Amino acid sequence: MSIHRIHCQPLRYIVRNNRCFMPILVLAMLIEIAPTVANGPSTSTIIVTVEPRTGGKIQGAVVDFNDHGLVLVKAGVPYALAWKQIEPTTAYTARRDLIAHQRGGWEKLSAQDHFDLGQFALAFDRQDLARAEFGQASKLAKGQFEQSIRNAWQQMREKRKRLQLDKKLSRLARKSENTQSQTLPGNDLSISRMGDDLDDAVTLTNQAGFVNDVNDEIRKRVREAYLIYGQKVQEVMGKSVVFIETDHFLIWTDWPKLSRDQLAGWLEDMYASLSVQFGIDVSSNIFLAKCPVFCWRSRARYQRFAQKFDGYDGKDSLGYTRSIESNGHVHMAFMRKGSTQADIDRIACTIVHEGTHAFLHRLFTTRLLPHWINEGAAEMTTAAVLGQQCPAGGNAALLARQYARYDWPIGRLFQSVAPIDAHQYPLAQSIVSYLNTQSVMRWRTLIKALKQGKTFPEALALAYDGTSLQQLDADWRKANSGLDNS
Ligand SMILES: [Zn+2]
Repeated sequence: MSIHRIHCQPLRYIVRNNRCFMPILVLAMLIEIAPTVANGPSTSTIIVTVEPRTGGKIQGAVVDFNDHGLVLVKAGVPYALAWKQIEPTTAYTARRDLIAHQRGGWEKLSAQDHFDLGQFALAFDRQDLARAEFGQASKLAKGQFEQSIRNAWQQMREKRKRLQLDKKLSRLARKSENTQSQTLPGNDLSISRMGDDLDDAVTLTNQAGFVNDVNDEIRKRVREAYLIYGQKVQEVMGKSVVFIETDHFLIWTDWPKLSRDQLAGWLEDMYASLSVQFGIDVSSNIFLAKCPVFCWRSRARYQRFAQKFDGYDGKDSLGYTRSIESNGHVHMAFMRKGSTQADIDRIACTIVHEGTHAFLHRLFTTRLLPHWINEGAAEMTTAAVLGQQCPAGGNAALLARQYARYDWPIGRLFQSVAPIDAHQYPLAQSIVSYLNTQSVMRWRTLIKALKQGKTFPEALALAYDGTSLQQLDADWRKANSGLDNS
C-alpha cells in the first residue's frame, strides 16, 4: 500500500504527556501567576472540572473565561474550550463558580448575574437550572426582571418548536424518499478483493503516477474507478446508501435528504473559501477527479466502513481524511452522532476541517504539510466558513491571549512536523491566522514553499521578507496582547 496519512478530527481531548509541548516550567509559572490574574487585578483563580461533550473530564485552574468559553490549565497544558463543547451541567457549574469567585462569594451575585446564568442554562436546554436562577433574579430585583424572564422562556419555546419541526420534516423526507441504490457505470466490472483500497484503484488507473498536469483522460479514468468503488461501498453498506454529486465532490451517504443538502453545502462552501484564499479558479477542480466523501449515520456504520475500506479503526474520531502522497489521491469519511443543533454544528465543523486537509493535500504538490500548519489552516477555514457555529475562532483568540499575557513559550511548535494534540489546535490556528492576515499573497507563497519541500523557517523567511522564528513569535504575541476579553 502506498504511503499515506490519515488525519482525523480527535474525538477527545487527550493529554499525552510524552507529546506535550508545554514544558513543566509553565506549571511552575502558573502557580506563581494564577493567584494574581484571571479577570481582574484583585481576584485569584479557581480550579474547575468540566466534561467535554465528546467524553472525558478535565480538571484545572482557570486562567481566563468569557462569553465564548474558558481556558484552564491541567498539568502545565492549557485547554481552550467553548462552553458549547462542554456538557451542560459541568458548563453551568463552572460558569456559576467562576462568576461567584469573581464577585467575591455566592451572596454577592447580582440579579443580573442570576438572570445571565439562567439564560446560559436555557441555551443548554436546562430548564430546571434556568428556573432556579430566574427565581433568584426575580427575588433580588424585586420583580424588575419579570418581562425579560418571560421573553427568555418565550424564545426558548420558539426555538424548541423550530427544532421539532425540523426533526419532523427530516423524518418525513426520510420516509418518502427512494433509497434504492443508484445505477453506476461499470456494472460489469467486478472487484475481486474485498477491502481493496481506493488508492490501489487509483494507482491501477494510472501507473505513471500523477499529481499535477492531470489531463481529461486521466480524470475520466479516475472518476470511473471512484464510481466503481462507490458501488462496492453500496453493496457492502446496504441500499440506504445514496450517491450524490456536486461540483467538486462525489458523495456516498446514508443520511436523510435534508442533511444531505446541508452536507453538499458545507463541502462546496469550504471549496469556494479555499479557492479564494489561494487564488484558484473555483470552476476548475483541484482533485484528481472529484473528491470521494463517505458519510455515515452512526458510529457503528462509520467504523465498519473505516475498518473494511481503510483498515482504520475509527475509534476516537468523528471523521478522517486519507491522503496518498505518491498518487495524489484523497478521500474523506465522517460519522454523524445525535441530531441536536450542537451535534449538527460539530459535524459541520469536522467536515470543513477535514475538507481543508483534502484540498491542501492537492494544492501545488501532494507533499504533506507540517501537521501544525495543516491543523491551523483547517481550523482557520472552519472559522471562516462556519463562523460562530464552530468553537475554533473563539478558542484560538482566547488561548492566544493567554500566551501573550503570561508569556507562555510555544516550545518547538515551529520546528515540529509530527502530529499535534487537539489542545494545540487553537494555538496553531492563531499563528496561521496571524500569518494569513499579514498578507494573503505571502501566505500563499509560504504554503507553496512548504509544498515544494522547504522547512518552515526557510519558507517563512522566503515569504515574509526574512522573518525569523523569534521575530514571528514576538510579532504574534504583540498582536494578541491587549485584545478585548469578549
Ligand atoms: Zn485535522
